[in-house]
Amino acid sequence: TNSNPPEDLHDFGVRHVTKGLGRITEGIMVKGEGSYVIYDDGRRILDFTCGIGVTGLGHAHPVVSKAAADQCMQLVHSQCSIALHEPYLRLIERLLPVMPDPSLDSFFFWNSGSEAVEAAIKMARWFTKRQNIICMQGAYHGRTFGAMAVTKSKTIYSAGVHPLMPGVYSIPYPYWHQSNLPITTPSSVLSSHSLYQLELLLAQQTAPADTAAIIIEPVLGEGGYVPAPPEFLRGLREICDKHGIMLIVDEVQSGFGRAGAWFAIQESGVRPDILVMAKGLGNGFPISGVVSRRELTDTLKPGAMGGTYAGNAVACAAAVAVNKVMVEENTLANVQLRSNELFSALNALKYDPSLSPHILDIRGRGLMVGVEFASPKSSAHHFSAHSAAGLPPASATHTNVDHPENMASRVARKCIEKGMLILTTSVYEVVRFIPPLNVSKEDMKAGCAIFAESMREVVK
Ligand code: PMP
Repeated sequence: TNSNPPEDLHDFGVRHVTKGLGRITEGIMVKGEGSYVIYDDGRRILDFTCGIGVTGLGHAHPVVSKAAADQCMQLVHSQCSIALHEPYLRLIERLLPVMPDPSLDSFFFWNSGSEAVEAAIKMARWFTKRQNIICMQGAYHGRTFGAMAVTKSKTIYSAGVHPLMPGVYSIPYPYWHQSNLPITTPSSVLSSHSLYQLELLLAQQTAPADTAAIIIEPVLGEGGYVPAPPEFLRGLREICDKHGIMLIVDEVQSGFGRAGAWFAIQESGVRPDILVMAKGLGNGFPISGVVSRRELTDTLKPGAMGGTYAGNAVACAAAVAVNKVMVEENTLANVQLRSNELFSALNALKYDPSLSPHILDIRGRGLMVGVEFASPKSSAHHFSAHSAAGLPPASATHTNVDHPENMASRVARKCIEKGMLILTTSVYEVVRFIPPLNVSKEDMKAGCAIFAESMREVVK
């Protein structure tokens, strides 16, 4: 049966699934139920990864699954260059009122985040008739050639496959690590540091007249779970306005309630020219979207955009249901409550003398929360001594790089052993919490307890 596959199915996988896929757990996942996943050996595990920020409403949400099942019996595929289908239009109808700016009124749906990033880059080039793209050091935008070119979080994604898309420049994300600044650096200083780098870049490397777009995640995802200071985002907007550069906001991970609001960019009041979304949009059904304003997209020639599965009817129907559930169940209110509980549980760890020296930072928005550890090689004490002396931290020794001995990986492994899936990020010592947006108070408490126990065992 499904729940008890033959013994050799694992071996079969080892032989025939590409080694290029990394994996954090053994065994075969056979079922998902709300905040839990179940493996073939019967293990029932709390899922604080949500399949990397996708299943915000939990696994197999009955309303979403039913909407998809019903659509399956109606029309699975129309191919949007052949004919539009109703779920496509119903989805736009549902999304228009939650857009972070009313100017965002022209949609294109794709399958994955990477493809939507590609579409956004193409659109920026078409709209401006310019070529170059500026991205953030530390950013993650995906695995296709354009998206990989603007991804700067880890070399593993592109190692051995260069050259990537040309015309890409980068500035440091306003994150102390990214510029080797002291951890105590105020966010206003980090912002002006990065904005200064941008001004230099536009004066020294890519002239505004050659620069099509700046692309940014309003909360840095794979690169360390770092919210951008609102003043930085406003600074980007100003520079884009001054030079006619498109601001592409990648909310693939931070959107749809993950960072506490429909979209993380709302906190800053900044208007994106192009907004990219995926993950939480479909709660597991493969759908992504790119939205801009009609005044720009009306200049596109029919046929310039498209894709066989783009805006698939089943995925669109699921996304419509996700939106309805989020409104009807007031998911954003739950995010607020659970976020407060998560932050207070994590902050309480700082009062435990055995743990506090290992915790460098607790940060995030909503239920997109990261805990950064001091690396075993160089303690938090060492760090703060450096900072107090006004010296930059020895951050070169604070990298994680998937080393089995680093603290973030050890804590994550311990959590998994104890029954909770959790992920690390990028090259830093960061563990990230991505629980379901509708997680219960009890499950949040259980997850926090597993994390605290795991930390205690690792530092022992
Ligand atoms: N942008 C961001 C911010 C992401 O977090 C991701 C995926 N982690 C992507 C783009 C790429 O999305 P996908 O994996 O669906 O191609």
